[in-house]
Amino acid sequence: MRATNLYAPTLRETPAEAEVRSHQLMLRAGMIRKAAGGLYTYMPLAWRTLKKIMNIVREEMDAAGGQEIAMPIVQPSEIWKETGRWAVYGDEMFRVSDRHGREFCLGPTHEEMVTTLIRDEVRSYKQLPLMLYQIQNKYRDEIRPRFGLMRGREFIMKDLYSFDKDEEGMNESYKKMYDAYTNVFTRMGLEFRPVEADNGAIGGGHSHEFTVLAEAGESNIAYCSSCDYAASDEKAELKVIKAEPEEMKELQKVSTPDAHTIEKVAQYLRLPLEKTIKAVAFQSEKGELILAFVRGDHDVNDVKVVNLFEDAIELHMAEDEAITAAGGVAGFMSPIGIKEGTKVVVDATVMEMYNACAGANEKDAHFINVNPSRDFKNVIVADIRMIKEGDACPHCGAPVKMTRGIEAGQVFTLGTKYSKSLHATFLDENGKEKLLVMGCYGIGVSRTMAAAIEQNNDENGIIWPRAIAPFEVVVVPVNAKDEAQLSLAEEIYNGLKANGADALLDDRKDRAGVKFKDADLIGYPLRITVGPKAVNEDTVELKIRRNGETVICSKAEAAAKALELLKSL
Ligand code: ATP
Ligand code: MG
Repeated sequence: MRATNLYAPTLRETPAEAEVRSHQLMLRAGMIRKAAGGLYTYMPLAWRTLKKIMNIVREEMDAAGGQEIAMPIVQPSEIWKETGRWAVYGDEMFRVSDRHGREFCLGPTHEEMVTTLIRDEVRSYKQLPLMLYQIQNKYRDEIRPRFGLMRGREFIMKDLYSFDKDEEGMNESYKKMYDAYTNVFTRMGLEFRPVEADNGAIGGGHSHEFTVLAEAGESNIAYCSSCDYAASDEKAELKVIKAEPEEMKELQKVSTPDAHTIEKVAQYLRLPLEKTIKAVAFQSEKGELILAFVRGDHDVNDVKVVNLFEDAIELHMAEDEAITAAGGVAGFMSPIGIKEGTKVVVDATVMEMYNACAGANEKDAHFINVNPSRDFKNVIVADIRMIKEGDACPHCGAPVKMTRGIEAGQVFTLGTKYSKSLHATFLDENGKEKLLVMGCYGIGVSRTMAAAIEQNNDENGIIWPRAIAPFEVVVVPVNAKDEAQLSLAEEIYNGLKANGADALLDDRKDRAGVKFKDADLIGYPLRITVGPKAVNEDTVELKIRRNGETVICSKAEAAAKALELLKSL
């Protein structure tokens, strides 16, 4: 393609509304334009990259046995009511009604749609396993659409659904998808990690998030410094820490005036934080109080707390009245003296503490010599702690490290969650009716483009990995008004095209500086410069965007040399 035919209006200034690099650079590179909050037009350069991402995804899904379909984006409310998710999805769902007042939604995901399709079609185990996928726009009225394509309200997703006759089959499908995702992100040239993830509201068995490592990521990842364990911080399991056994002393109430935080209490009583117990009071959406206790130097992982209770979906900080009604005093809480019947969750590590300090459920007072194994009654003991740098890896015990990443894809086993509520069955080898066993697998295609930029950029612009660059190589005649330069550039450009390279000829009559700046901003992996030296001395310059290295060669060698360099970019 010729740059004179390319619609890519670049901007010199960074738009004020864009906070993260990918958003800023996509706007500046003329890749996207905003229509409304979380809604964007993909301009030609972005669409070229998106098509490359979609092709890689498509090839890997097909290779793993997936079959591409296209389901309607507009979905009838009835199927969502059957699974109960019409109510659960809440405000994140875009709802529309037709001229007859019938309710629909714009698909945020397609479990209901695909399962009702299959329940009416698949009759026998002989039709299984089955993997169906699509690549299309999804709609979620996110509470905080932000960071450009990272969290849009309309975004492109690949969603695949697997149907198997039993758990074993489901696990095989899961493994195939896990491997396919590994191939997808490897082929795109991204640094990524599959991490054990929480299943969230979707329910079911196990799950991995494929995270692209980048500082701007919203996912905190814990990974082992020694073995290959990696998990999202929400999911990361923690080993119980056993304190050195001590003789249990008698419980004693002490005055702690105005010490509302555990740090202040520890300071006041001159205790290390590891000798204290801190409280977090939650309320479920139904208003039920849940009290959680961890060691003073630890933090509560509210996802782990949510997962302990079947009926809780989200937790909020508790109101003081709810705490008082349960016999507690905010800022001075412990499980001792809390009304029976209150949900009290204690981290397993706390139960191993000796002679610790905890609230006395009385204003300005704490207990010392608290021995949870002796003093805590009617409590739920579980791992409810948030992992932090230096904690022991749950697999090998070595210290974990923390890093940040962007969730680009997620794989889930669903089991029979949807086939049960939607009555999707088949007849097995013995003619017995059984529920289909499912899995679901998403890749955020548009988010992946943003994630690739977050991971690959510098002060001058984007640095595309070759596989997903809008163009692999740009040929720049320094002065396009100079016939000799332009025709030599064209010759090289044609040589690249003939050999299958995805090349752009920057034939614009602008100053060289402008064209170089645009090339760096848009981030083509390789730039070939054709200036007076190319014409007079037969020396063409090839410049690698990522490291700035240059290679000089003759015009006859240029195309071949470029193709060779591209292999490693
Ligand atoms: P998140 O926790 O970031 O909201 P999710 O768990 O809701 O993501 P899934 O339902 O698993 O996401 O969707 C599959 C993939 O779609 C995600 O891994 C992500 O890459 C992408 N995705 C989800 N929500 C958005 C969004 N609002 N904008 C862009 N991509 C998204
Ligand atoms: Mg979400």
